[in-house]
Amino acid sequence: MFNKVLIANRGEIALRIHRACKEMGIATVAVHSTADANAMHVRLADESVCVGPPAPKDSYLNIPAIISAAEITGADAIHPGYGFLSENARFAEIVGAHNITFIGPEPEHIRVMGDKIAAKDAVGRAGIPLVPGSDGAVISLEQARAEADKIGYPVLVKAAAGGGGRGMKLARTADDLAEALATAKAESGSSFGDDTVYLEKYLELPRHIEIQIIADSHGNVVQLGERDCSLQRRNQKVLEEALSPALTDQQRVQIGETVRKAIEKLGYLGAGTIEFLYENGEFYFIEMNTRLQVEHPITEQVTRTDLVREQISVATGAKLSFRQKDINFKGHAIECRVNAEDPRTFRPSPGEITHFHAAGGPGVRFDSAVYSGYTIPPYYDSMIGKLIVYGDDRAHCIARLRRALSEMVFVGIDTTVPLFVDLIDDPNFQKGDYHIHWLEEWLAEKSG
Ligand code: ADP
Repeated sequence: MFNKVLIANRGEIALRIHRACKEMGIATVAVHSTADANAMHVRLADESVCVGPPAPKDSYLNIPAIISAAEITGADAIHPGYGFLSENARFAEIVGAHNITFIGPEPEHIRVMGDKIAAKDAVGRAGIPLVPGSDGAVISLEQARAEADKIGYPVLVKAAAGGGGRGMKLARTADDLAEALATAKAESGSSFGDDTVYLEKYLELPRHIEIQIIADSHGNVVQLGERDCSLQRRNQKVLEEALSPALTDQQRVQIGETVRKAIEKLGYLGAGTIEFLYENGEFYFIEMNTRLQVEHPITEQVTRTDLVREQISVATGAKLSFRQKDINFKGHAIECRVNAEDPRTFRPSPGEITHFHAAGGPGVRFDSAVYSGYTIPPYYDSMIGKLIVYGDDRAHCIARLRRALSEMVFVGIDTTVPLFVDLIDDPNFQKGDYHIHWLEEWLAEKSG
């Protein structure tokens, strides 16, 4: 087992990892920017090192400073959390080159899955169903026209290096294609320094359903069921549930097994998520995330597992503590991402939380790093906590969530808590009847 783990992240996820380490008897090292000197992840860690000024590129993305911090403190492993350096294959390689264990997959798997064309090719060969699309990159307009005719309109032009929904343009008809291709290429070039694009069939009203997997270095792969993350705003997840209200048990077993077998073939190590769009009973792969995800706790709730503990343990070379047959789903879990934002305009609301009180009681978990008197810095993501609620079934979970939301108190800043209070009483939400564009339509109706 590791003696000391450096946590290369901040906020609630840094705390989540710290907690798993402490329960495993592992000492922790926090890194932080000058803006986060008083942050909870710094206060709780056994040791902390300042790695630079507020801007992420100078601190949480500052590879030399983070490696030095690990060396100075004698950390034998680095957990990257999500975001920041978590999907940077080069970082994983550098960590390894310093004889420090990167808690995550092999750099090569991070690299392949970070290139959407390579990822589609790899998982497609391993048996995962894909969105119909171009055969690799499209270079000329002429080639794009031919591919789009084969796929059938509408088509989406997507960036191979894409992320956060950037470099993605829709062509409803052949007339839109030239412009979609040009703008997607330009946006991708300026955002990612790579203007490689490809085409995909555009699915009109799909759900976003993703499968959680975890694998050890002894060839054991376990799939932990799905999360439904269809409630999104600007391609950002807002509320997630496990399991999905849209799948039957038979569909669940089928897609889970398909994914499990594919991951086995790929020889992947650690936690990962395979994201799909789901429409008319069919699954279409969109990407694989080679890291822990924000919404992992809802899977932990319905499977009674600790994914961070398993991640750390398999990184030491140990076997997973459970087998596929040990995973049985029980109850229902929902996560609300609480952002420091105006709940109507979504304008960020940084500043001091003069008073804070978290919901509690049966089935309620609030993963956060805020406290009364904490000042939210303006430099980072606006998510300040995740309200995770578990119930015996979906109706019980929603009733509990309503009760938990009513207990949350934030004074001094705006949060998205009021949005969830309204949302969970919507009849369509209650029926589980929604798709990836539904929340934006619902918000437009509310503000209209
Ligand atoms: P990124 O890495 O930029 O987030 P993804 O490929 O994960 O890109 O897609 C982000 C979102 O864009 C998806 O959750 C979905 O809402 C939408 N999207 C992606 N591909 C398609 C498609 N083929 N048809 C319809 N919507 C899509």
